[in-house]
Amino acid sequence: MLSKLKAKLLAESCEEYLCRLFEGIGKSSLNAFTTLAKESALDEARQFDKNPGQGLLAGVPIAIKECISTKGIETNCSSRILRGYIPPYDAHVIERLKAEGAIIMGKTNMDEFAMGTSTETSCFGPTKNPWDQSSVPGGSSGGSAAVVAGGEAPCSLGSDTGGSVRCPASFCGIVGLKPTYGLVSRYGLVAYANSLEQIGPLTHTVEDTALLMEVISGHDRRDSTSAEGERHSYLPGLKDGICGLKIGIPREYFGEGVNRDVEKAVWEGIHTLESLGASWQEVSLPHTRYALAAYYVIAMSEASSNLARFDGLRYGSRQGGDMDWHTTFSAIRAKGFGPEVKRRIMLGTYALSAGYYGRYYLKALKVRTLIKEDFLRAFKDVDILASPTMPIPAFKIGERINDPLSLYMADVFTVPINLAGVPAISVPCGFAGHLPIGLQLIGPHFCEAAVLKAAQAFEAATAFHEAKPEVI
Ligand code: GLN
Repeated sequence: MLSKLKAKLLAESCEEYLCRLFEGIGKSSLNAFTTLAKESALDEARQFDKNPGQGLLAGVPIAIKECISTKGIETNCSSRILRGYIPPYDAHVIERLKAEGAIIMGKTNMDEFAMGTSTETSCFGPTKNPWDQSSVPGGSSGGSAAVVAGGEAPCSLGSDTGGSVRCPASFCGIVGLKPTYGLVSRYGLVAYANSLEQIGPLTHTVEDTALLMEVISGHDRRDSTSAEGERHSYLPGLKDGICGLKIGIPREYFGEGVNRDVEKAVWEGIHTLESLGASWQEVSLPHTRYALAAYYVIAMSEASSNLARFDGLRYGSRQGGDMDWHTTFSAIRAKGFGPEVKRRIMLGTYALSAGYYGRYYLKALKVRTLIKEDFLRAFKDVDILASPTMPIPAFKIGERINDPLSLYMADVFTVPINLAGVPAISVPCGFAGHLPIGLQLIGPHFCEAAVLKAAQAFEAATAFHEAKPEVI
């Protein structure tokens, strides 16, 4: 816990603590960090030891996903095309972390441009799941989850376009939150599908996630989709309990395709919440079965447009030769992007092209509205929804990578939340063999406080978050 970490910093200097972390990372076989900011981090630790400061995160080391811009530290989205790109500015969330005294340890591995569910599409090779090194850590923020679960960093930031914070949190047995769309500024987040994504924390405990949310949320005029209004506070009231809370169980999120151990652990989780004073009832989100198709059409369309700017000339190490523009551009992009990114650029371009736009993109947007309405309707009757985060536990590295559809299918319970723009958290709720399982709690727009409170009550009544893998 970060608050525990602060107490520990009294026993051990921040420099000693960081040295210990970096030593562990040096020996690690997880392949979870891509770049380490060792020198600057140790400098800041020494400064903290001399003068601890008052920030909410003073002296707390944090790992950052490769796609979040960090001034002076390479930000390459785990893609060859961006190798060598060092941003001249910090993302909004990094500015906020630094203002509160956090120490940036380095960058973490991810699926190339956040396109994936397993961290296998990275140009740095796959990250391993700390609970079983032959399994994936989930994705796309697999590195950010593995460093926390594996004890290499106390907390991290990831990004979630269709589940990329919650999926790896679930597979690695930690807490991960996807905030309401617009709550956390996307300024400095390299865009994959900008109408869907948010930056979110990955931590060991719900309280740590609440603390990080206090720091990173809030209005930023540099992101035109950033929500205006008062800054929220998530720590006060966090431990107030859930007496009287009404929980909806979406019928469509159980049954066919859901692993038995997962279903069992999630139901046990729901009964735990019930024993804490909540009640539950079945609800329906009838358009769920169209969510995956709508999500992938929208995400790929936005990706095809967002990734047009990567030509190997403007960002990163310049790779162009002396050929004409068209040949140079094609050669660089053919070499710079991996197969999954190319597939998505091509499918997205197709869905947006004249003649197909109405049939695919526009239709997907209409389905998106129906899915959002499903959630709004459900939240008239209940306060939050509970479901599995993922239908399955972590799968083996290599098992699905050649079958993209089976990877896309694994996102079935996470993508509707991004389409609707509502917040959702994944908390550890059990094990399938030795692999962790996540319980997903979903709230209405801007009701992070309710989601966190329910997650906190669940965590306090269970011990799953205390289990640690044996790594290093
Ligand atoms: N697996 C989903 C995809 O590949 C979600 C990824 C994400 O949230 N960045 O698009």
